[in-house]
Amino acid sequence: MDNCIFCKIAVGEIPSKVAYEDEVIMAFHDIEPQAPVHVVVIPKAHIASGMNEVTKDNSAVVAHIFESIPQIAASLGLGEGYRVVCNCGENAGQTVQHLHFHILGGKTLGAMA
Ligand code: AMP
Ligand code: ZN
Repeated sequence: MDNCIFCKIAVGEIPSKVAYEDEVIMAFHDIEPQAPVHVVVIPKAHIASGMNEVTKDNSAVVAHIFESIPQIAASLGLGEGYRVVCNCGENAGQTVQHLHFHILGGKTLGAMA
C-alpha cells in the first residue's frame, strides 16, 4: 500500500526496532512510547483502516496476532502485566490507517490507557 508508514516498516523501507517478526506479523517498538515498554503489532499485509475492516476473510491474522501477543509480551519482560490497545477512528486518536495493536507495560498502568 503506497504511503502507508506501517507497510513501509513491514518491508524494512522505514527502519524500526523489531521486537518480533514472523511471516505474517511484526512487532516493533513505538517511536513515541507511552509506557516504558510500548510495542506496536501489525499484520504485514495492509488491512485498512483498522478494526472496522476486520472481516471473516482477514480475521485469521487478527487471531494470529492475539495468539502471539503473550509470547511477545513475555519476551519483553512483561510478566507482571500489560495492556493491549486498538485505537479505532478519530475519537480514539487513531493516526495510522493500517490495523495495529499496541502492547503497553513496564509500569503500573492505572485504570485505563
Ligand atoms: P495509533 O495512534 O493507534 O494510530 O498508533 C500509531 C502509532 O504509531 C503511534 O503510537 C506512533 O507513535 C507510532 N508510530 C508512527 N510512526 C512510527 C514509526 N516510524 N516507528 C514506530 N512507531 C511509529
Ligand atoms: Zn499499510
